[in-house]
Amino acid sequence: MWKELLSSIDCYYDEMVDMRRYLHQYPELSFQEYKTAAYIADKYEELGIPYQSQVAGNAVVATLKGGNPGKTIAIRADFDGLPIQDEKDVPYKSKVAGVMHACGHDGHTTTLLTLAKAFKQVQEQLSGTLVFIHQHAEELAPGGAKSIVDTGILNDVDVVFGTHLWTNTPYGVVQTAPKEFMAGADRFTITIRGQGGHGAMPHQTKDSIVIGSQVVTNLQQILSRRIDPLSTAVLTIGTFYSGSTFNIIADSATITGTVRTFDPKLQNQIISEMEQIIKGTCLSNQADYEFNYEKGYPPVVNHPEEAALVLKAAATVPGVNKAEEVVPSMTGEDFSYYLLEKPGAFFFTGAQKEGHFYPHHHPKFDIDERSMVLAAQTLIQTIKLYQEKI
Ligand code: MN
Repeated sequence: MWKELLSSIDCYYDEMVDMRRYLHQYPELSFQEYKTAAYIADKYEELGIPYQSQVAGNAVVATLKGGNPGKTIAIRADFDGLPIQDEKDVPYKSKVAGVMHACGHDGHTTTLLTLAKAFKQVQEQLSGTLVFIHQHAEELAPGGAKSIVDTGILNDVDVVFGTHLWTNTPYGVVQTAPKEFMAGADRFTITIRGQGGHGAMPHQTKDSIVIGSQVVTNLQQILSRRIDPLSTAVLTIGTFYSGSTFNIIADSATITGTVRTFDPKLQNQIISEMEQIIKGTCLSNQADYEFNYEKGYPPVVNHPEEAALVLKAAATVPGVNKAEEVVPSMTGEDFSYYLLEKPGAFFFTGAQKEGHFYPHHHPKFDIDERSMVLAAQTLIQTIKLYQEKI
């Protein structure tokens, strides 16, 4: 049965490319993925696999019960696009202005739908139950994952797996980590309220640009001077808006950024250090401030046994030439919520397209479509090994 499953994925390749390119042309923004959800539901209807739609929003969850008893394994794929204008010059470029599948979620959806189709052919021989979770809104906080988990959908699930097609990784390579794999991703906004005035009379003002610049510089000392050098974090300032013209001293400044961590204790330490630095810097300049910190997705922390299983499984897939353990990535993902609820693992399937490397969320982002085959086959082998282990 397992050999048959693997080769059926190879046979579905052209169909997968068509499906992915169709989805690529019609991306939808997070929480607004109505047509994509309907497309997925239609596919399950055609396959004759029972499903639930509108789970916690736009999610679609299908359940395939095998002919034999066994464990329940959930596999998750997300399906939202991003507010980016597609700048690729290809026939399957996005037809929706300002919206694009710039993270490969079209490929995730295709991979999971194809897996469902393949497993449907062998339903009678299958042991246990497979739950296919098509998740909406991964890209935008609060995300779809938490609300899906909150519905109790994982109550009867024993283990959960997921993959991200990853263009930072070459095609043919599968990567994961035994524990921390992706970071917790937070965002913050700092508003400095100084006092504007004439550019020629700075002594009568509180220059928000100068104060804001001090804040930006002083914040860099948290990572270099305040936290344990052996722990890991990122503090990035993404925007700094202030001022109106060349000869006016700015009344206020708005700074936004992100903090990435793997450890909640360190996360809280950074938040309080930030508050102290902003407060101190503004105090010494007699300015006011507002500090708004939003905790985002928790870090993706794999379960070691399941992560090891994924690498073992990937190594048995003919097209995979390397299955390796890697250091964590500082990017974030709301797959974390599934792993807080049940054992499981998340992994990267290398999807870098030869001669066309653009990072995730880039207007020219594209994947090596063959990676969908390796993702599906790695998941098949992971399910096989998990069932054999029991
Ligand atoms: Mn993504």
